[in-house]
Amino acid sequence: MMIGIPRERVPNENRVAIIPTGVSTLLEAGYEVIVESGAGLAAHFTDDDYRHAGAIIADDASALYRQASVILKVLAPSLEEAELIQEGSTIISLLNPWFNKPLLERFASRKVQAFALDLVPRTTRAQPMDVLSAMAGISGYRAVLSGAMALPRYFPMLMTAAGTIHPARVLVIGAGVAGLMAIATARRLGAVVEAYDLRPEVKEQVQSLGADFIEIQVPSSETSGDSGYAKAQSEAFYTAQRQQLADCVARADMVVTTAAVPGKQAPKLINSDMIHRMKSGSVIVDLVADKGGNVEGTVLNKKIVVDGVTLVGHANHPSRVPVHASQLLTRNITAFLLNMTKAGQLVPNFDDDIVSATLVTQGGQVLHGAEPSAPK
Ligand code: NAD
Repeated sequence: MMIGIPRERVPNENRVAIIPTGVSTLLEAGYEVIVESGAGLAAHFTDDDYRHAGAIIADDASALYRQASVILKVLAPSLEEAELIQEGSTIISLLNPWFNKPLLERFASRKVQAFALDLVPRTTRAQPMDVLSAMAGISGYRAVLSGAMALPRYFPMLMTAAGTIHPARVLVIGAGVAGLMAIATARRLGAVVEAYDLRPEVKEQVQSLGADFIEIQVPSSETSGDSGYAKAQSEAFYTAQRQQLADCVARADMVVTTAAVPGKQAPKLINSDMIHRMKSGSVIVDLVADKGGNVEGTVLNKKIVVDGVTLVGHANHPSRVPVHASQLLTRNITAFLLNMTKAGQLVPNFDDDIVSATLVTQGGQVLHGAEPSAPK
């Protein structure tokens, strides 16, 4: 069975789904592997690296898609690229299925079996396949570096002959995978860190990284479900959050926001009044700018200044660390594929909870039912 690794076509996407060491793993499992020429270049892997690992190199996308019956990708293909996938074949990729209905319908019309890596369950057995966690860790790390570069101040406390420099104050809102990595990175750079999450169970994790956990009074509600993810809240809840976080935001030199609810637009947790109260030169990195943003006024993929405060709205931070992001993706995606492999053949067990949770199209049907929520 031939596995295909196409070049990613979204602008500024530097990652590749499988690096050369992953090719060796797939060959050992009994597959053949074809890689589109240049697929690994932006992540610093050449065609020769792939050839040495045992892959065939395809000159272009159509040659690749013509020969491959299982496609491994980082990001969802465009509708045009989806047309190149052979009828009846399989794709494994991040697909953002809540917001990509036309793509799922295109897959179904071509009888493509599609697995969305966004839907890998957060269970112990699925941990090696958990692409979202691997990428969120990189995002949290890279967000702090981007913010530090935009901040016109030092991070650490310094006692010099020319005087004492006080450490930067960093506030992290949303202490999931990305938020915890942001806290750890800011602490390593010497900042004093505070963090807040609506899930009270993360308090201990925040404190174990040396940050203070902020507790606020909000209308009582269920904050997380069985999956461990946060649940969407009422507008009254978000209003109470904004009111009580305003002082913490005002005293921070840098804020990193990561608050997300799967399948929904990100809640607005910082409004323009809160930005107005921040010191000139402060920075906010909105890590969920591509999901609508936690911050009023953030512009996706832009760095803008509002009231003297820099708002960083870059999406896809993992693409800025393409070597290690691709290495982690390779581990995640091969683990996912090998869970469905016997003797070089893809034989999914549809009773397996990881397989059934991620299968979004099959046999001409779209299986992923959730409608996207309206942007706020
Ligand atoms: P995520 O990216 O969906 O959300 C990021 C954070 O934003 C979460 O911590 C969430 O609670 C928080 N958030 C949402 N709305 C908020 C609001 N209004 N105010 C403040 N914070 C808000 O989540 P994630 O980081 O991918 O994962 C969340 C959790 O899932 C983890 O902390 C963990 O408990 C669980 N998880 C489990 C596994 C596993 O068992 N294999 C793996 C990864 C994550």
